[in-house]
Amino acid sequence: MKSTDRIESLLEESVKTHGHLCAGQVLGVRMSMLGLREIGIEDPKGRDRKNLVVYIEIDRCATDAIQSVTGCSLGKRTMKFMDYGKMAATFVNLKTGKSVRVLAKEDSRTKAREYFPEMENRYEAQLEAYRIMPDDELFDTACVDIKINREDMPGRPLNRIKCDLCGEYVQDCREVRRGGRVLCRPCAVGGYYNNAFFSPAVMQISHNGLEVKSKLWLELEGQPFFGRGKALLLKAIDQCGSINQAAKETNLSYRKAWGYIKAMEKRLGIRVVECHAGGKNGGGATLTPEVKDFLEKYDLVEKDIRAAANSKFREIFGR
Ligand SMILES: [Zn+2]
Ligand SMILES: [Zn+2]
Repeated sequence: MKSTDRIESLLEESVKTHGHLCAGQVLGVRMSMLGLREIGIEDPKGRDRKNLVVYIEIDRCATDAIQSVTGCSLGKRTMKFMDYGKMAATFVNLKTGKSVRVLAKEDSRTKAREYFPEMENRYEAQLEAYRIMPDDELFDTACVDIKINREDMPGRPLNRIKCDLCGEYVQDCREVRRGGRVLCRPCAVGGYYNNAFFSPAVMQISHNGLEVKSKLWLELEGQPFFGRGKALLLKAIDQCGSINQAAKETNLSYRKAWGYIKAMEKRLGIRVVECHAGGKNGGGATLTPEVKDFLEKYDLVEKDIRAAANSKFREIFGR
């Protein structure tokens, strides 16, 4: 089969799964063909299917094309997503150990334009050019050294272990050990979902409709001054980088949010936020290291209290 015929048939297949023809599809197909050739894999979906792992560095159109051509996928654990935001992928031959990283060249776009200067639609011209441009105009390749850990390899899960805080199970050694406890990553370092530490669905267990609830607040000289509400406000500021936005997210008026912050600063004797004026977003605010440290400690206490309440509840009320 001529290599251009091969491109066309691979492209047709990837467009089917991806949903449209785009420059990313052409680039991804070309990238995969080059990578596979470099590591000596001829039949990625057939007899070589167990010998191939691909690391991708971006979650964009080309990624689908790479999945389509190589047959590698997250679910099979043969595709590893490294969130670098770079148009690059590394192809690993598990049998020989040869690994080659293919990086799309930044100037390939400009070069592509020179191929069909007569075409009015720049995007169409780019699509056509990417089909026929020589590999070395499109990509840089480099041999790299990769060691894949046992727990990252395809095959049966190595282990399953329960998180001491949320009670959810963690597979393949993703747990974190801290102070003699086993934690899942969201419990140890915070998750991508909001209020990982406070989600009632996660933290509260129920038995025949019975539930255990616990509440924590801090007092200073007999006066309550910090609880979940302020913790949420501070976390929102941390996430949004703006008091205004954080107030909206926590359903507070700006005045009220600002009042909370000022009161905290006064009573704790530390600065809570650093305000930045100007900029294209009209200024913003970040938490000071001191208050971040305070918030982290408050979280730890809250998590521990909840975990203890849950486990006592389970112990005493049983199943
Ligand atoms: Zn696309
Ligand atoms: Zn957990």
